[in-house]
Amino acid sequence: MNGAMSIAHLTINLHALASNWRALDAKTEVETGAVVKADAYGLGVGPVSATLAEEGVRKFFVAAAEEGVAVREAVGPEPQIFVFSGFMEGDNGLLYADNLIPLINSPEQFKRLQQAMPDRPFGVQLDSGMNRLGLEPADWAELRPEMEAMNPVVVMSHLACADEPDHPMNRQQLKTFRDMTDGVTAARSLAATGGTLLGSDFHFDFCRPGIGLYGGMPFVDAKPVVTVDLPVIQVRAVEVGETVGYGNSWVARRPSRIATVAAGYADGLHRAIGGGIDTFAGDQPCPLVGRISMDLITVDVTDLPEDPDRLRILNGHQTVDDLAEAAGTIGYEILTSLGARFSRGYVE
Ligand SMILES: *Cc1c(COP(=O)(O)O)cnc(C)c1O
Repeated sequence: MNGAMSIAHLTINLHALASNWRALDAKTEVETGAVVKADAYGLGVGPVSATLAEEGVRKFFVAAAEEGVAVREAVGPEPQIFVFSGFMEGDNGLLYADNLIPLINSPEQFKRLQQAMPDRPFGVQLDSGMNRLGLEPADWAELRPEMEAMNPVVVMSHLACADEPDHPMNRQQLKTFRDMTDGVTAARSLAATGGTLLGSDFHFDFCRPGIGLYGGMPFVDAKPVVTVDLPVIQVRAVEVGETVGYGNSWVARRPSRIATVAAGYADGLHRAIGGGIDTFAGDQPCPLVGRISMDLITVDVTDLPEDPDRLRILNGHQTVDDLAEAAGTIGYEILTSLGARFSRGYVE
């Protein structure tokens, strides 16, 4: 482990990342891109994008043009970089400089494209029912001839319920997407991680997973990509009946040893994380006790043969989705909230 020992350490396994991409790619007959928005789901867009480009990824996706700059730097001039938010006011310079491809979401954005850079590559994002981003069916029907005449690189849409394979919304959006795009000459894409797992009907010309690459559900076979090690600041003996932490929420039922570790809700280990979560000394689980504070977490280490100098909270046994479930959220939010002040290391 490198980095200072006074703050928690986040390790990102780039082998596992590459292996997850290959595993998702192997599930389809088509090309597989990669979504690296939000700093690659919090894991570091530079190393993540460089690793995936080396693996053969040729289509990257970011949320905003600003995020594309770091991807371009990491992957070099060849791969395509698409921007989900499309062509926002003032994006011209960024889109030009780094050769980013806006995904046009509205008639206003299309007008902006025609005025500012009619000869540059672009894609079209369609709303097939999620009502979040993309051209409405009526606007698309009206603009389609003009847009198609300009040869969009891709026409895509996004599924609202793909993490629930049996949800009727999946088939409904598939039908809407087909109705809207049958006959286009552009490449088509509908599937993120969930859609990739729904089967070939959803794959079209390429898939664009995000969360599955980073070890999250709904890709159940994902290899864990992140581990988090928490340095122990001090260990104390606690008598039966004594309490630990804010609000006295934990009471010792036996003579206990309590370790205080350096991480808390300010690091994305949400205060809402309830019972059933452990930290690990090797394979030995040690339960969290008491409330999670801003910078500190307390752990029952009574059953360890000796006091640990660090404890691991994310590993192969306990994943981001386990933490998410305990906090009442999703793995995506745990990943993207993790550790702005953690030291970081990459396994290459
Ligand atoms: C975030 C996002 C993705 C990737 O979704 P995952 O569920 O993380 O695989 C794909 N497409 C769009 C439009 C997105 O916003």
